[in-house]
Amino acid sequence: MLSRKVSTIAIDGPAASGKTTLARRLAARLGYFYFDTGVMYRAVTLFALRRAVPVEDERSVTAVAEELIIDVRPPSVEDGRLYDVLVNGEDVTWDIRSHKVDTHVSLVSSYAGVRQALTLRQRQIGARGDVVMVGRDIGTVVMPEADLKIYLDASAEERARRRFQEAVGRGNSPEFEDVLGSMKERDHFDSTRSLAPLKPADDAVLIETTGLTLDEVLARAVALAQESQP
Ligand code: C5P
Repeated sequence: MLSRKVSTIAIDGPAASGKTTLARRLAARLGYFYFDTGVMYRAVTLFALRRAVPVEDERSVTAVAEELIIDVRPPSVEDGRLYDVLVNGEDVTWDIRSHKVDTHVSLVSSYAGVRQALTLRQRQIGARGDVVMVGRDIGTVVMPEADLKIYLDASAEERARRRFQEAVGRGNSPEFEDVLGSMKERDHFDSTRSLAPLKPADDAVLIETTGLTLDEVLARAVALAQESQP
């Protein structure tokens, strides 16, 4: 039985590195709140696109980020989702996973005003404690004081295979090369941007998940949570 000393856990890593599934299971194991910050950047991107706001227009996109009410809740439908994503009360859980959102989300995420608005809300959630938060900059910017920081990685091919299989499971039929190409592009953009780039915090524990099962990664994370206790 774990004591509840480790209260804030940050999990970062590139696309499809297994962050989301690990974080959700770790949070369930510890009885903590699980929060995926990527959905916020995706929601802003989706609504900017829907409202025909040019994604190159930083000011207008920032206004969208400041206005939207984004809520993440336990899943209400059994369709493979890990959680419901509600924006201004509307269920957009799958809409934020579209190819169009994938291609524009990195640009939207590079804007200072967008990051400021969303980081503020993420910190409020983190401040409540007993949380596992997932993203690109949680250990470096959002919760640099987190009790435990994990950085997950896997080879680009392995990550693209996971994304490809997810898409096929949802009835889509993408080309593997397209999935791999757009994922590499997004990772490159995310890790080379000037604001809050994707990178491990100096004190993050790196876990390379290529060839590991989810249970093995989870066991490692649970052990880290126990070791990190004072
Ligand atoms: O994790 P996910 O793939 O859903 O994230 C979508 C995008 O949101 C990332 O490619 C990145 O551009 C952005 N993001 C971010 N900072 C975070 C979480 C996500 O910039 N903390």
